[in-house]
Amino acid sequence: MTQIPELVDYLKNYDGPAIRLMEVCGSHTHAIAKHGIRNLLSDKIELLSGPGCPVCVTPTSYIDRLIELSFQENTTVVTFGDLLRVPGAKESLNTAKGRGGSVEMVYSPMDVLKLAADNKYRIYVFAAVGFETTAPVYTLLLDQAILQGLDNIKLLTAIKTMPGAISYLCDNGAKISGFIAPGHVSAVTGSNYFNNLAAKYQIPFAVSGFGAKELIVAIYGLIQMVLAGDNSVKNFYTSVVEQENNPIIEGKLNKYFEKADVTWRGMGLIPESGLLLRQEYKQFDAGSRGLDVDNKMNNACRCGEILMAKVKPVECPLFGKICKPSSPQGACMVSEEGSCFNYYLSQN
Ligand code: SF4
Repeated sequence: MTQIPELVDYLKNYDGPAIRLMEVCGSHTHAIAKHGIRNLLSDKIELLSGPGCPVCVTPTSYIDRLIELSFQENTTVVTFGDLLRVPGAKESLNTAKGRGGSVEMVYSPMDVLKLAADNKYRIYVFAAVGFETTAPVYTLLLDQAILQGLDNIKLLTAIKTMPGAISYLCDNGAKISGFIAPGHVSAVTGSNYFNNLAAKYQIPFAVSGFGAKELIVAIYGLIQMVLAGDNSVKNFYTSVVEQENNPIIEGKLNKYFEKADVTWRGMGLIPESGLLLRQEYKQFDAGSRGLDVDNKMNNACRCGEILMAKVKPVECPLFGKICKPSSPQGACMVSEEGSCFNYYLSQN
């Protein structure tokens, strides 16, 4: 079996055809920056970050709707911390909170249950952002809300699904040699989830874990697939990811959610690329449909092009100048899964 130092040596000295790989998972983006993986690659291997950070792909109208709800009578918006600083069209939830909006930060969606049980006369709107990975947790929250008779919990959903975004990138001329498939999403969906995309676009996929060694093995494996013209899906994260999906989770998702056309920040409306609550559960929906407007707070922000790997963060004129993690002008600089955030950290 090839040892890691040999793989690193291969990646560093690779001198074959130019290869462009893309990761489409925010946790991979962060892990790649944290482990300094880009520094291990030869100039012939480009590693691009795609639209895999949930906070980064949320359109401004979603943030604006949360802000509006935070000022609604008897209503509190409940959210994870990284959403607080994401710019809407004019301001973030943080500044809205400073102006008197009712906003609470939690560490788990399930924390909403206690808030709602303790004050049944107040509506608690959870900012349900995420991908296939987080959607199952929202089904558990809804299960519990129904079981406990809590009719004062609502979700404002911005749940995205990966295949639609990958199709969009491929259909719109993104020149990608191979995809590092998201490990967390694959743990829910199974690696077969990407088979149709690999076959349709004739591009290989490598499912990877998040450790430095796991990423090196998957990147090496993906390069071998590219060179061999092997346009299949290979699972390099077998300790966690199965080939098939989990039928129990899929059943829960289908119970509450249906596929929908949704808007991605900077990319526009992508057919069947998200999940919305079914009509049967509309009493839990805080108005998630039609949040399609995507007005930038700063028109110079190039988040959309960065999410589609058309430009790198350093090509944005605001990068590192007025846009920093302490003063983000776009969503990609807010989350630790964002491309701009990670480029900034690796340079400072
Ligand atoms: Fe947007 Fe800031 Fe990234 Fe520029 S550096 S694209 S302003 S988030």
